[in-house]
Amino acid sequence: MRVLVTGGAGYLGSVCAAHLVETGHEVVVLDDLSTGHLDAVPEGCRFVEGDLAETADAVLAEGFDGVLHFAAKSLVGESMERPELYWQGNVVTSIRLFEAMRTHGTPRLVFSSTAATYGEPERSPVTEDAPAVPTNTYGATKLAIDHAITSYARAYGLAATSLRYFNVAGAHGRFGERHAVETHLIPIVLQVATGQRESVAIYGEDWPTPDGTCIRDYIHVDDLADAHLLALENAQPGRHAIYNLGSGTGFSVREVIETCRSVTGHAIPALPAARRAGDPAVLVASSERAKAELGWQPSRTDITRIVDDAWQFTQAHLTTQPR
Ligand code: UDP
Repeated sequence: MRVLVTGGAGYLGSVCAAHLVETGHEVVVLDDLSTGHLDAVPEGCRFVEGDLAETADAVLAEGFDGVLHFAAKSLVGESMERPELYWQGNVVTSIRLFEAMRTHGTPRLVFSSTAATYGEPERSPVTEDAPAVPTNTYGATKLAIDHAITSYARAYGLAATSLRYFNVAGAHGRFGERHAVETHLIPIVLQVATGQRESVAIYGEDWPTPDGTCIRDYIHVDDLADAHLLALENAQPGRHAIYNLGSGTGFSVREVIETCRSVTGHAIPALPAARRAGDPAVLVASSERAKAELGWQPSRTDITRIVDDAWQFTQAHLTTQPR
């Protein structure tokens, strides 16, 4: 297929673009490089640098079989302080993309949605029919886009899939996570191991969990990419499918830090800190629907493997990129 990957210079977009190229698809990456990196665009992709809202129409006019839509603003804290950036950058921009797809008859869409659409779920593991009550603006904008996609599928026959990611981690060779502003647990802990940080803060040790720290479902980015390719292939015209993606097992913040210690051989000092606003105690996915309908099976679910792949990437990146 001929596929447009928006945000293909970012972490998830670059890994999925690499998987597409490796499986014989023709890929165009569209990215404004606001948070992505030019050297993260995989070999074999054509790269278009540009603002998505302004450029989508001209690019899609070339004719595509599908779009993988990753480009978004994704910092929860910033979304609360500057909501207009998220309503504009995520919702308005996505509608411009969907309109360009409609104009040029692009039949398939896979959208990068998130577990943040569920807010603080009452039940675990979280199924797709859990109430979607986001607790932050980032999640609200992603949910609004999901609603828009449902109505485009119904009205215009778009073949669409939203993938709601839980905690994505790990790397695909030289494609991995490197954000200018890092908020995610595993990269932060690994930055302690490389000496970029003194210690990691544990956001709350009094949660109602066995060791008092929050539990999350970490999914390897390669398993996530597999799901995108399956979603692209299996999309049905007029249907908007929504799938939760996780490994199905929860690990506490302490367990993650302990795994990072054993993988890196570094002591990794960890200090108690206040709870972070909006954090649910436990967030674990039920991915039964993705397994049943897409035939998806996550195969890199071992947390040591996930951390090890992230660590290999982090170390390689330190030696190739002088700080
Ligand atoms: N966390 C932490 N210290 C950090 C970063 C994260 O204790 O420096 C915790 C956070 O409170 C959450 C878990 O690690 O319970 C995963 O957080 P992350 O930001 O990686 O992902 P989220 O679950 O918020 O999407």
